[in-house]
Amino acid sequence: MTGLLEVTGLTAGYGGVRVLHSMDLTVAENEIVAVLGANGAGKTTLLRALSGTVKAGGGISFAGRALNGTSAARIARSGLGHVPQGRGTFTALTVEENVRLGVISRPASTRAQADGDLDRIYDTFPVLREMRRRPAGALSGGQQQMLALARALMARPRLLLIDEPSLGLAPLTSADMFSVLARLREEWSLSVLLAEQNARASLKVADRGIVLARGRVVAAAPAAELAADAGLRAAYLGESPDGLTGVSS
Ligand code: ATP
Repeated sequence: MTGLLEVTGLTAGYGGVRVLHSMDLTVAENEIVAVLGANGAGKTTLLRALSGTVKAGGGISFAGRALNGTSAARIARSGLGHVPQGRGTFTALTVEENVRLGVISRPASTRAQADGDLDRIYDTFPVLREMRRRPAGALSGGQQQMLALARALMARPRLLLIDEPSLGLAPLTSADMFSVLARLREEWSLSVLLAEQNARASLKVADRGIVLARGRVVAAAPAAELAADAGLRAAYLGESPDGLTGVSS
């Protein structure tokens, strides 16, 4: 399959310790791909390798251009947005100041349209418009996750790498967040690579999924197929074989 993002033989690690071992992965235009795996499987490292925040080997091609050796700042400006785990909110800045920080990762030629995009972002997240003059620290966990997505949108991405957006959120808030991802894909014509421990919820919104274990892809299939595979979920995602006890929901 040819895709917006094409990764072949990707390796990455920390210091001398290799964490990702020859990974292949494709994300097509307008596709949502879930990256699943237990704690420590390598999901975060995969997203960091793609965004250039961890040194990577192998082939990474995005929108037809090789990214190997490209700086993280340049990768972000090329349309590959990274929403890291922990959300990176500056709590003392206002909500709007946080959103505007995303402009840094925008191609210089599109900076003049930033205000128009801000309006569109507020249409997508009306709660952020209401709270725009409040300190970001006043937002709830779910709202801070929306803020992190809003800041990423300010950079005009074509593909968003989103790391564990449901982490620490209550189940209902987390369900809201997953439906926001589906809306972003439609309204912003985005592709999404979504790293999640919550297999059940992420497979509902994803088209395809890959399962990582110890830095390797151990399964790759359409989302519905992975969701139906109780044995796989038990082996790699920490669920009981009857599927009754989900991973963090
Ligand atoms: P989690 O769901 O806990 O975030 P993950 O699937 O995202 O897990 P990674 O965070 O990518 O997994 O971790 C993969 C491996 O890399 C683990 O063995 C972890 O201990 C190691 N690791 C992660 N970050 C670092 C780091 N900054 N320095 C050294 N080793 C790291």
